[in-house]
Amino acid sequence: MILLDGKACANHLNAKLKEKIAADTALGFRPPGLIVLMVGDNAASTIYVRNKERMAKDVGMFAKTVHLPESIQETELTTLIHEFNAADDIDGILVQLPLPAHINATSCLLAISPTKDVDGFHPTNAGCLTLGLPGLRPCTPKGILALLRHYHLSPAGKHAVVVGRSNIVGKPLALMLAEPLEYANATVTICHSQTTNLAAICKSADFLFCSVGKPHFFDRNYVKEGAVVVDVGITRTENGIEGDANFADLADHVLAISPVPGGVGPMTIAMLLQNTVQAWESRRK
Ligand code: NAP
Repeated sequence: MILLDGKACANHLNAKLKEKIAADTALGFRPPGLIVLMVGDNAASTIYVRNKERMAKDVGMFAKTVHLPESIQETELTTLIHEFNAADDIDGILVQLPLPAHINATSCLLAISPTKDVDGFHPTNAGCLTLGLPGLRPCTPKGILALLRHYHLSPAGKHAVVVGRSNIVGKPLALMLAEPLEYANATVTICHSQTTNLAAICKSADFLFCSVGKPHFFDRNYVKEGAVVVDVGITRTENGIEGDANFADLADHVLAISPVPGGVGPMTIAMLLQNTVQAWESRRK
């Protein structure tokens, strides 16, 4: 069984990115700049933003988390976003989700300039993905494809089943897998909670992508022998962080599987850094 080690792959990609930033800044370019806007003090979000800022600084970026009070109004937040849109030394703006209920997340998302939308969630970037045009791609699906590439596991011509249809994982992942590109070109099926015969469809997958948020849901009743399983799920339980795949049951059944933690999670942050550098390079052209 091949363990799809996202931590090792992310370390490798981050090291290459660090070299690139060092080389470009040595030529006189300012470092890439990333701003993370964090509203309130959600415990999980606090850990995520701390990791993002630390990793960004590690590769040589200017990175700053702006902590905002839970009581901030939507107009104040969007005004701040517009200020960072206009800031020359900032290339990427990320609004950490979830936001408090009184703030409309879509309005904030729309306020971010598509050229600085390093999460790849803005409708302009989503539209570019749909039309196969260049743009900033969502970090988790982009990280999944980078992980497959790292292990030379191409889904081209294969049946890829994506379980989950969220805007941040399932939908963009399905589109990216179907793109006419190397390490894509898959025949894609999207499943969700209303899918009938879920187990049979999953069992026909050469590549199975699990993004439902139900710990240990996918065991060998859902997985073809010799398949590649990418586990996106993250659920915090009393035993720690758990994925959607039943790793113990699948380990000697599959060709390859990503662990949780240490699989897709580190790749998501690595792609945030890649997107920030992509935005940095596009903006200086
Ligand atoms: P989400 O918005 O939480 O939605 C879950 C999806 O799973 C929905 O499309 C839902 O179907 C589907 N679903 C739920 N129960 C199902 C069932 N019994 N059978 C089939 N489909 C079912 O999705 P998400 O944002 O993609 O998050 C999913 C998981 O991935 C969560 O654990 C999240 O924490 C994790 N995640 C991890 C990363 C990472 O970097 N590793 C990034 C993002 C998310 P309906 O649409 O019909 O409701």
